[in-house]
Amino acid sequence: MRRRLVAGNWKMNLLRGEAVDLVRRIGDELAVTPASRTRVVLFPSFVLLDTVKTAFGGISGNGGLALGGQDLHPEDKGAHTGDVSGAQLADAGCRWALAGHSERRQNHGESDELVGRKVAAALRNGLSPIACVGETREERQSGRAFAVLERQTRAALAALAALVEQPDVDAALAYEPVWAIGTGETATPAIAQETHRFLRGLLAELLGAERAEALPILYGGSVTPANAPDLIAESDIDGFLVGGSALDPEKFLSIIRASG
Ligand code: PEP
Repeated sequence: MRRRLVAGNWKMNLLRGEAVDLVRRIGDELAVTPASRTRVVLFPSFVLLDTVKTAFGGISGNGGLALGGQDLHPEDKGAHTGDVSGAQLADAGCRWALAGHSERRQNHGESDELVGRKVAAALRNGLSPIACVGETREERQSGRAFAVLERQTRAALAALAALVEQPDVDAALAYEPVWAIGTGETATPAIAQETHRFLRGLLAELLGAERAEALPILYGGSVTPANAPDLIAESDIDGFLVGGSALDPEKFLSIIRASG
């Protein structure tokens, strides 16, 4: 059975005191009642990584929490002002890295090819990538959603395909319809399941059936405690990438609990 994964993407939110408070409230609760099937990863902004890592140390057994970077540069070091490398993320205690979030694709003009290089950089530095894919509203309405998702997924996972012989390499794919991110509008469980099923088939083609069955596919886009139970009940939804609800400890814990 695939291990579930719930990731909290804090984006450009929280100051240090707020971050420590949020980590403690989530971690202390999980330390008392661990999530049985679900891994939990937090994605603070870069300047908060060290603070959050230190806060983990004050929680019994870490509360099972892991740390991730919201983005990374495709190269490991060099003259790239304002960027952060996979090597630096690993050194800061990260185990995961996001690549290809739609806000990066839209706000920073990131191409499919660049996202693929970021996934490769994560793997090269021992980080587990969560590669994000998702169509815009216009792409879904014009019937091009699956074509867009296929193009994005093939590019994002090219590096992963090269590692198919290494079963211990951990990674995830996140389906995040752009029209559902931060909008309060969520894909229905049926739309999400149909899309995840399509992505699972594509993974089988790219990575082989066994790896495709083992790789978690997360759903992201206005996930809340109210819609999480129906989404996670779908057979190809293996967890969530959560934005807004991840900033509220009660909501985030409730989504983790719904995931099992
Ligand atoms: C996200 O940022 O990945 C996301 C899904 O945000 P939200 O949950 O706020 O829609």
